Formats: sequence, C-alpha cells, structure tokens
Amino acid sequence: MSHPTQAGTMRAMVFEGVGAPLRPVERPIPRPGPGQLLLRVAACGVCRTDLHLLDGEVEIASPPRILGHQIVGTVVSEGRTGGREGGGEIGRRVGVPWLGWTCGECVYCRGGRENLCPSARFTGRDIDGGMAEYAVADARYCFALPHGYPDEQAAPLLCAGLIGYRALRMCGHAPRLGLYGFGASAHILAQVARSQERRVFAFTRSGDDAAQAFALELGAAWAGSSEDRPPEELDAAIVFAPDGALVPLALRALAPGGTVVCAGIHMSDIPSFPYSSLWQERVVRSVANLTRTDAAEMLDLAPRVGVRTRVSTYGLTDAGAALEDLRAGRFTGAAVIVP
Ligand SMILES: [Zn+2]
Ligand SMILES: [Zn+2]
Repeated sequence: MSHPTQAGTMRAMVFEGVGAPLRPVERPIPRPGPGQLLLRVAACGVCRTDLHLLDGEVEIASPPRILGHQIVGTVVSEGRTGGREGGGEIGRRVGVPWLGWTCGECVYCRGGRENLCPSARFTGRDIDGGMAEYAVADARYCFALPHGYPDEQAAPLLCAGLIGYRALRMCGHAPRLGLYGFGASAHILAQVARSQERRVFAFTRSGDDAAQAFALELGAAWAGSSEDRPPEELDAAIVFAPDGALVPLALRALAPGGTVVCAGIHMSDIPSFPYSSLWQERVVRSVANLTRTDAAEMLDLAPRVGVRTRVSTYGLTDAGAALEDLRAGRFTGAAVIVP
C-alpha cells in the first residue's frame, strides 16, 4: 500500500460525494495558518459519524473533504503568528477531536457550551481530517494525550471516548447503566462506568455473540439483545446505535426518573410510544459534540482508571474497508487507520 510520495506532497483518502467510495489522492501537504499546527498523522480512528457522512445522512457542504476526526499526530510545524514563528510545540504528540473550531463569542461559547456553537466547524466534515499522512488543526483543539497509550490505542479516546464521556455525564448518578450498541464508545464507557462502581447492562444486535462476550469480558453485569428486557430496571441508558426503534425499548427498561441519552449525530426516526413509557419523570435527550472541558476531564480520567482500547488497524488506502467493516459489525472495539 505504501509508495514514496513526491517531496511536499502527501497521500490522503478523500470523500467526493454521497455514494462514491473514498478515493486515494496525492495532494500538497497543507500549510498551517496563524494559530494552527501541522501534524504528521500517526493514527486516525474511524467513527460511525464517518458512515453518516459517507451516506449523506450528515452533510459535507463542500467536498472534496478528507474524513477522520480522531487524529493522533506529532507537531511538525506551527503557523506564523504576528509575523514570527513559534516553535514550542514541535515534536509534541497531540490528539484532534470532532470539534475543530468555535467562534468564542456566541452565547453558547461564552456560557461553557461551545459544543452547541452555531458557527462551529468540525474536523473531517468542514475541515480536512486525519485520513491522510498530514493534517492541519487549530492549536486550541489539539489536546495533550495521556502517556501509556500507543498512538493507535489513543485514537479511539478522541471521539468514542470524549463524546461517550459527555453522554455518561448526562446520565447523572445512575448506578444501573444500559448501553445500547456495544461498539467503540461503549467498550470505553463500560470500563469508566465499572471504575465508578456502576453496573453495566450491554445491549447488542440480536445474535451478536462476539459483542456480548466482549461486554461481559469488560465487566458488564449482563449482556443480551436490544429487544430483551434487562434483569433489573435501569437508572439510565445510552443509545449509541443509530436506530430510533431503540429509544422506546430503552425507555421501557428505565426505572422512574431515569434518562435515555441518544449519543449519535444521526438516528432513524423514533417510533411513537405510549406516554406511560415517559411518565414518572423519565427523560429522553440527545448529546451533541463535545467541549474542551469534556476532553480535559476524560483524557485525565482514562489513564487513571486504566481504560484500555481494543483496536483493529487498517492502512490508509483500506479506509473504505474499515468503514464497511464497521457498518457490518465485523470487529469488536474500534477501527483505526494507520497511514
Ligand atoms: Zn466520531
Ligand atoms: Zn460560538
């Protein structure tokens, strides 16, 4: 898969339009502008959001676009600021998440809710992402990564981990936690939840024995199919799978006062359900994107509680195969591109 590139160019996988496969291209290595860093990409995690982008369920406004928003890379250079070049960042390993830029001035940004900034720009959707040999990122959204995680192991922390962590926070105290869809996010969260002495109930597609066995291996109290009633009522449930039909099922499994958090960026329509499923102060809510505070908290917490990620690695030109394997559920844990 590897072939030498000409000086000053890089290999990348680009999205050109809905329905078209990602295409390998060679293009100039981008230059960092003021406040930006040029990174040599070491690993880039694959996320279900990438499938929604590929399928047009989440729009890419101006293709071609390099996908990938869980980037681990080393700083190669810094953009010039105020006529001088910095240098303090060179050689540092950083991680780049989905949230790539915010305005800093709107009511959301000023109120600690930059995840809802209406002008936000997202990595791998509005800004070229990490399915390439190099990427440019806003230095304010380049996070220090914990030691003890090899590059490919660190990559899934950046979306599966960070947005999963935000969803877990939305669950509140919740000692009995349901996870609907046991993929990249759930396998990280199950470990965090166990460290907080919550009991985890894992729901998978019917017959997905591998995912159910994986959940039990990670300390889940119970694993079954999404249609099953768990052996106990749940205090909260997080729905990771993009299937709206799971929402009434999760609601039905909740104790009074419980919350269902929908953690994906896209979901099929939610079927109607009787009001009695919502009655007694049950809550259905979504979680959108992440803030830098979420990132700081989760990247601090993950190594302290010993989160380990399970990854399947793919070469850069196999990015399309990685996405199709994700769609078909052909691996447990997370997929990571290593360019
Ligand atoms: Zn993601
Ligand atoms: Zn804003």
